[in-house]
Amino acid sequence: MASSSSLANGDNPKGSAKRVAVVGAGVSGLAAAYRLKSSGVDVTVFEADARVGGKLRSVSHDGLIWDEGANTMTESEPEVRSLLDELGLREKQQFPISQFKRYVVRNGMPVLLPSNPIVLLTGSFLSSRSKFKIILEPLLWEKRNPSEVSNDMQESVGQFFERHFGSEVVDYLIDPFVAGTSGGDPESLSISHCFPELWNIEKRFGSIITGAIRSALSSRRGKHGKPNDSLNKRKAQRGSFSFYGGMQTLPDAMYEKLGKDNVKLQSKVLSLSYDHHGNPALENWSLVHHSEQKKRSEESPFDALVLTAPLCNVKELIVTKRGNCFPLDFIPEVDYLPLSVVITTFRKQNVKRPLEGFGVLVPSKEQKNGLKTLGTLFSSMMFPDRAPSDLYLYTTFVGGSRNRELAKAPIDALKEIVTADIRQLLGAEGEPTSVNHYYWSKAFPLYGRNYDAVLRGIEKMEKDLPGLFYAGNNKDGLSVGKAITSGCRAADQVLAYLSSGSEINNT
Ligand SMILES: Cc1cc2nc3c(=O)[nH]c(=O)nc-3n(C[C@H](O)[C@H](O)[C@H](O)COP(=O)(O)OP(=O)(O)OC[C@H]3O[C@@H](n4cnc5c(N)ncnc54)[C@H](O)[C@@H]3O)c2cc1C
Repeated sequence: MASSSSLANGDNPKGSAKRVAVVGAGVSGLAAAYRLKSSGVDVTVFEADARVGGKLRSVSHDGLIWDEGANTMTESEPEVRSLLDELGLREKQQFPISQFKRYVVRNGMPVLLPSNPIVLLTGSFLSSRSKFKIILEPLLWEKRNPSEVSNDMQESVGQFFERHFGSEVVDYLIDPFVAGTSGGDPESLSISHCFPELWNIEKRFGSIITGAIRSALSSRRGKHGKPNDSLNKRKAQRGSFSFYGGMQTLPDAMYEKLGKDNVKLQSKVLSLSYDHHGNPALENWSLVHHSEQKKRSEESPFDALVLTAPLCNVKELIVTKRGNCFPLDFIPEVDYLPLSVVITTFRKQNVKRPLEGFGVLVPSKEQKNGLKTLGTLFSSMMFPDRAPSDLYLYTTFVGGSRNRELAKAPIDALKEIVTADIRQLLGAEGEPTSVNHYYWSKAFPLYGRNYDAVLRGIEKMEKDLPGLFYAGNNKDGLSVGKAITSGCRAADQVLAYLSSGSEINNT
């Protein structure tokens, strides 16, 4: 990483710090901006919305606290762990009660998901046939059919898991998991983009079971064959968590550290223009944004840019390069999945079969048993401070690729659908005491089987526009942790670019 002083006043004739604009104040943009600021860069974040957080959005109302976007996150990535330490958020982390108790619906009712592979193979969640298939996978897994995969069309998540473990695993483990984490379905999603680690394990070992065991053993032993001391520590950090006050606490903490003057809210970026002034990496960029508060557009110069807005918004920007229009139409259209998040509360006495744990996922096959939702989080079971002690607060997801039309149903219809599912799964009687709702028209980008073309488009944009870097969940993974990591890595690329002292392409 470049030193603070070199970026604070290095080559800039005005003696001021290098100036970088970050477009978007979701977690990826805020993490990028925070890293840049910590390295001495003069950073300005432009956010179209009136608030920071993007897909993190917590609401506190009438004694209830709920999340309308991401509900929990993990800290598997080192960048996330460092960020939480630096922001002083460890004390605010809130870990769910019984988070490893998760349920999947089978035959219309919730069934506890086996918490580890031994329980999966000895319990009754899967049929004997599927259990044998898993045990014999190292010998019997089927090779990929080359005719079904090309450079443009990757193998689907469903095809991959079917080859290794059979259709029951796809229907009752993979399908609810991908619906719950990405709104997608196993047939549309690409295995290499959704599960890159498993994709690589197959490439190295063939069998997933063999590869997973060998990878686990080698990471358990340190480089020199000694047990890895940090393992226990890392294990303790595994699992999902939120923050007191909800997920919004995280972007708010970054907002605070960045300083409110450096984050321009209600400031939609409209156009970007690149012009090389002969001076390396210096004020080559000019950015125009519309300030909702000032009711006018403003133009400002920058040395580099980090774009973290979804690609559908990036493609709307007017971009010019050396005075010529530079349309971003070479980036393919991304398919975004719509989702409604419905928050209900029920009197505890009216819920006859409450379940302790994280939540319940509904496989698409279970739609035949009348269920229409993707799944429900037991929010106040996980975090009891989210509702008064006489209420249960549930967060239910509707839509995704399984049911795009239903996602945008009016609140009354959504209330009916959600209440019917909670009635069937948890024995809720009567009506919910409150219903709140948020509709995301573009909740998740679908990492489809041709997503490689999208990534190639991003690469071309970065290569052809020196000093512009792209980050966020349209590129590097859907989870909050991956979006943060993506932002941090883009910041590192900016720092390398700014301190390189020459106009290099971002390769
Ligand atoms: C309903 C839901 C539930 C989820 N649950 C989880 C979960 O439990 N765990 C998990 O890990 N992940 C979850 N996710 C995914 C995760 O929240 C996101 O992937 C992540 O927050 C994306 O962050 P980002 O910074 O990449 O993008 P975003 O949060 O989308 O931020 C992009 C920002 O750019 C701004 N913008 C757009 N255009 C412009 C412009 N022209 N000028 C200025 N600003 C602009 C937008 O307003 C937005 O604030 C969930 C997502 C959704 C929608």
